[in-house]
Amino acid sequence: MSRVYNFSAGPATLPEEVLKEAADEMLDYPGSGMSVMEMSHRSKDFERIINEAEETLRELMEIPSNYKVLFIQGGASLQFAMIPMNLMKNKTADYVVTGQWAKKAWQEASMYGNAVKIASSEDKNYSYIPDCSDLMISPDADYVYICENNTIYGTKFKTLPNTKGRPLVADVSSCFLSEPVDVSKYGIIFGGVQKNIGPAGMAIAIVREDLITEDVLIGTPTMMRYKTYMDHNSMYNTPNCYCIYMCGKVFKWLKKRGGLEVMKKQNEEKAAILYDYLDSSDLFKGTVQKESRSLMNVPFITGDSSLDAKFVKEAAEYGLVNLKGHRTVGGMRASIYNAMPKEGVIKLVEFMRQFEEVNHV
Ligand SMILES: *Cc1c(COP(=O)(O)O)cnc(C)c1O
Repeated sequence: MSRVYNFSAGPATLPEEVLKEAADEMLDYPGSGMSVMEMSHRSKDFERIINEAEETLRELMEIPSNYKVLFIQGGASLQFAMIPMNLMKNKTADYVVTGQWAKKAWQEASMYGNAVKIASSEDKNYSYIPDCSDLMISPDADYVYICENNTIYGTKFKTLPNTKGRPLVADVSSCFLSEPVDVSKYGIIFGGVQKNIGPAGMAIAIVREDLITEDVLIGTPTMMRYKTYMDHNSMYNTPNCYCIYMCGKVFKWLKKRGGLEVMKKQNEEKAAILYDYLDSSDLFKGTVQKESRSLMNVPFITGDSSLDAKFVKEAAEYGLVNLKGHRTVGGMRASIYNAMPKEGVIKLVEFMRQFEEVNHV
């Protein structure tokens, strides 16, 4: 077997131990004689799987009891619509636009009400996080929205914005479970799971109970009301059973490794290896302002697009794959989520050094 180091932004690398465990249980989920894929979502076995997944996540994130954990299909992008449909009672919400995903969420919300762009970093191709300590919050804003880690641009909020009492809604797709968070500071934390947790096809939304009401925008489908998920333990209809099962395994894997404090420390170590090299290299440069650097997504360039292409191609031959950057940034991007081992980052830097020696004039 020859597994590569996969630096994809998402769907992304998963812990090898988890994949092996799932492989072992593929034909016979212990005692059931069937695969989780073949199992009724109303069965005792699956009920245990979904409840344990939620419990472990609650433990990992220390989620307060007045927050609901909802498993929702449609990925993070469906949340871009569900959030305004469920929360925009005054038909106004404030958006901090720090990249493509925040922009998409803002555009989506604009279809349902007055989505106000209160800050942006578009002026410098989203290479930094704007100062959000004293934002011009709209007087009747139902919530303030951020994308906490910008997957494409490699920036991360280091302090949360001052929302002046409005609920904070945060897309954490690409930093989910990468470090401890204080859930009580948020109204909603949500993310697609395919970046840092599990397979594609699902989002997890952690929603403060008082924000889940029947008072939603007219025409909001049953399947797009948070209340539907809350009232039916995320099983009003058939959920993404296999994804929930895999996420549950990853939660246990994180717990076994010591939880989110330990993940944070390991993620800082991994990111430092790469950033330290980038700061010392004469060939490669990071594209993000230092204070805004993400621990999860690290974009870098040589400044010469044909050399970038050569790097991406030769790295793949060396077993380091999916390093091509997003088309709006160019160059390269290394996504180094929880499941990327430190050895993968060391090997990447080793290869970058070699490449620099040969190609730098
Ligand atoms: C990938 C990503 C999304 C989109 O996720 P889908 O599940 O494909 O809808 C949204 N936000 C962020 C920050 C992402 O990284």
